[in-house]
Amino acid sequence: MVKICCIGAGYVGGPTMAVIALKCPKIEVTVVDISVPRITAWNSDQLPIYEPGLDEVVKQCRGKNLFFSTDVEKHVSEADIIFVSVNTPTKTQGLGAGKAADLTYWESAARMIANVSKSDKIVVEKSTVPVKTAEAIEKILTHNSKEIKYQILSNPEFLAEGTAIQDLFNPDRVLIGGRETPDGQKAIQALKDVYAHWVPEDRIITTNLWSAELSKLAANAFLAQRISSVNAMSALCEATGADVTQVCHAVGKDSRIGSRFLNASVGFGGSCFQKDILNLIYICECNGLTEVANYWKQVIKVNDYQKNRFVNRIVSSMFNTVSGKKIAVLGFAFKKDTGDTRETPAIDVCNGLLGDKARLSIYDPQVTEDQIRRDLSMNKFDWDHPIHLQPASPSAVKRVNVVWDAYQATKDAHGVCILTEWDEYKTLDYQRIYDNMQKPAFIFDGRNILDGAKLREIGFIVYSIGKPLDP
Ligand code: NAD
Repeated sequence: MVKICCIGAGYVGGPTMAVIALKCPKIEVTVVDISVPRITAWNSDQLPIYEPGLDEVVKQCRGKNLFFSTDVEKHVSEADIIFVSVNTPTKTQGLGAGKAADLTYWESAARMIANVSKSDKIVVEKSTVPVKTAEAIEKILTHNSKEIKYQILSNPEFLAEGTAIQDLFNPDRVLIGGRETPDGQKAIQALKDVYAHWVPEDRIITTNLWSAELSKLAANAFLAQRISSVNAMSALCEATGADVTQVCHAVGKDSRIGSRFLNASVGFGGSCFQKDILNLIYICECNGLTEVANYWKQVIKVNDYQKNRFVNRIVSSMFNTVSGKKIAVLGFAFKKDTGDTRETPAIDVCNGLLGDKARLSIYDPQVTEDQIRRDLSMNKFDWDHPIHLQPASPSAVKRVNVVWDAYQATKDAHGVCILTEWDEYKTLDYQRIYDNMQKPAFIFDGRNILDGAKLREIGFIVYSIGKPLDP
């Protein structure tokens, strides 16, 4: 029986391994992590992450061929294939701070593999890493022993949070990069055999190691750039009377462009887009490609601009001050169907409003009060742009109230702002909400999920991203 071990039981390691275990009943899969609470949660009914469909997949195979454990060394030493899916955040200090990927966790995982391995291993980069990381990993792995053979593969993960299980069941592609030697090709085949249990052959792409590593950064940079392009256009729409939804519909009909992922919003968030573009910028700079680095910097600058623009629009619409006013914030997660708040635009928007002394009443169906308070108070690393919003001071965080119901959040509020596109916000009783708010009642739809015309009929003053403003 092939044994797989995955180091890192996070948003990627947990769901990807659960799906491999489900689709490959003859493979034993163990996910290990140094975090005891995370592993305890994976072994309980309250999984550590919220992801539609994940509970069912885990329930079907946990205890049969899917295991979660903190005994990292034991399971690594017994495995044939080791996936490494640890976090690779942006470095916050030292060389490359604010841009380069922090590979501390990766390096310590690689050193541990080198120390405990007693047989040949295939080591798979599942985490998103800078191009050429495999070269460094190889050096670390082989420093201990020349007898044990390691093959490093790059198999970046393209799942999106909120649709992870769907994406894993039916991926657009699975990418496997490896060495062009016979042993490298054998390792690629071994990993292909795993995915071939459910992924059609023509969706499994094989490349050299560096192309696979760079493709993941490129894919995230392209996706984020698309969002920033639409958001940049939304500002121009507001200035000219065009409607960004109509523009995107017309533009997206061009089959070379396509209509998916073409929505204006308050900005992108999540743990990956900004981090991976910063990583790309750093790699370009290290290779002397300043103009290319500047091109990608602009994607992040437009994203920051969009978040600032949204805050400024709220404040200027509400007679140039939100001091003492109650603003209901609907949504804190960086997108719907996840409880993940890493780099969520809600942090910057809420801190911007708190900076103008607003009182906030926040409701998100999947984010806890503790998480929100932690996020709002944390220090953010300013990578190199002048318009970054500041973290909230302890006294500002006291003006935050976290509630478990949209009607409670909006009661007596002066304004409502929608920061996550949760489906349940689309079907709220907005007449009831209007009746219980201060007047004039404002709605700022940061995700363009509501029907502005209907809200205006009720009496709201409405701002939607990239749409004509209220007369
Ligand atoms: P995460 O923070 O949720 O999980 C990482 C886990 O690794 C943590 O639980 C941590 O305790 C564990 N870990 C760290 N060092 C360890 C060690 N030495 N031994 C054992 N466990 C260790 O991160 P994530 O969101 O799952 O992302 C993991 C990687 O996948 C990152 O490189 C990320 O860029 C990439 N990625 C993420 C997504 C996503 O949507 N979250 C999508 C594609 C790729």
